[in-house]
Amino acid sequence: MPGKVWLVGAGPGDPELLTLKAVRALRAADVVMIDDLVNPAVLEHCPLARVLAVGKRGGCRSTPQAFIHRLMLRYARQGKCVVRLKGGDPCIFGRGSEEAEWLGGHGIEVELVNGITAGLAGATQCGIPLTLRGVARGVTLVTAHTQDDSPLNWQALAQSGTTLVVYMGVAKLDMVREALLAGGMGAGTPVAMIENASLAHQRQCRSSLAQMTEAAQAFGLKSPAVLVIGEVVESGALTRRELKEVMAIPLTERVSPR
Ligand code: SAH
Repeated sequence: MPGKVWLVGAGPGDPELLTLKAVRALRAADVVMIDDLVNPAVLEHCPLARVLAVGKRGGCRSTPQAFIHRLMLRYARQGKCVVRLKGGDPCIFGRGSEEAEWLGGHGIEVELVNGITAGLAGATQCGIPLTLRGVARGVTLVTAHTQDDSPLNWQALAQSGTTLVVYMGVAKLDMVREALLAGGMGAGTPVAMIENASLAHQRQCRSSLAQMTEAAQAFGLKSPAVLVIGEVVESGALTRRELKEVMAIPLTERVSPR
């Protein structure tokens, strides 16, 4: 009997933001393949599984994707229950669907499990309501880093009236700023740059669109970080303390201190 591969989102970092389904998959896992951005603390749910670090820093730099594919296939064919753990959500800039398709094409049963994606977690943890009524009519998730360097339609994004959440943007701050300004977005549009969202060492840097590169430099912004761009950053923002006060008291007891 061939095994099964679960492609699981581990969430943004805080181990309490894992889904119950992810925990169930981890408990059943024989083998867990873990990406760089996954918090190893979630491995408490699979103490007996074999854990393989397969992120880009994990030792398979040359052909990481093909290598990971083959590894998953090998274990699944041995009848193992394989959990492929990815940061955030497996299908938000995470190649989850590519892996699912490839495994499915090789006759392996695959199940995808949602995770909380970093952009949504970061905004909420900083008290930014991404779709604040009357301020933003939606939210758009984009990556500043495309595989083939094909340009995004930044002008359309600048004028969309939606909050922008930019992934993989730390090395491209200048490009993002220039493209949005050229596209007609106001120089004063507020920006939040959120590093290590949901983790104990989460930090955020706020600035205007026009100032964001300098602000990030002075702040020492490092990857992983998401950029949240739009009026909601200032309009509805609650400070962390206010946010804690608003949350139900019994729950706050369970929120890890930051
Ligand atoms: N699948 C992931 C995204 C992977 S792409 C998800 O759904 O979250 C990698 C990018 O995600 C990073 O460059 C960064 O922009 C963002 N990211 C991942 N984890 C993050 C975190 N804890 N804090 C801030 N940004 C994060």
